[in-house]
Amino acid sequence: MIFLAENLLVTILALLFGWLVLKLNHKPIKAASRNEIFICILTNFINTAITFAGFWLWQHGYILFSYNPSWRIVFDFVALFMLMDLAMFLFHYAIHRSVLYKAIHQFHHHYADPIPIDLFVLHPLETIGFGSLWLMMILLFSFNIYAVFIYLVVNVFFGIMGHLGIEPIPTGIRRIVPFKYLGTSSFHHQHHLNINHNFGFYTNIWDKIFGTYKG
Ligand SMILES: [Zn+2]
Ligand SMILES: [Zn+2]
Repeated sequence: MIFLAENLLVTILALLFGWLVLKLNHKPIKAASRNEIFICILTNFINTAITFAGFWLWQHGYILFSYNPSWRIVFDFVALFMLMDLAMFLFHYAIHRSVLYKAIHQFHHHYADPIPIDLFVLHPLETIGFGSLWLMMILLFSFNIYAVFIYLVVNVFFGIMGHLGIEPIPTGIRRIVPFKYLGTSSFHHQHHLNINHNFGFYTNIWDKIFGTYKG
């Protein structure tokens, strides 16, 4: 129950953040459909199971964290950010290039002009897939707990930004470092408009390397 409450709270805070950004940019806020709300709640239940699985693995010593606030916070955060970005890029790319696209991922692509809640509108198997990827990452490496926490906040932040349906960052700023290399709102929006480009999430680096980038 605690994990469900935690997941729901994160979802509500994320949606409120998306709503606030749209409001500050004077953009109309489209209401979510009943189907989108239902899937969003289902995603929360699946994520709760993933959280519980992670807790169980940690309790039984399979997942290890380091707890001292040191330089490792920065190093581990950057490592997590880049490794998860690469893992999700490959996972996302593989889905698009296989039969799994029609069977699973097309569900998310139903929304060509997404709204913040669509971050959580994924086929249940895809939610399990991303959750398993995350668990595998923290099973393989022992990260600093503060870095993990910061990463999880940043992960939701990028997810919401990618599904705003608008670009709040001015073009001039997007051309400078580090924005130049980050997955901005328009970067993921472009993926919803054209499914052959921009498979990355936090950065556009992997798309540039693999030749699938579209600005
Ligand atoms: Zn999306
Ligand atoms: Zn996709």
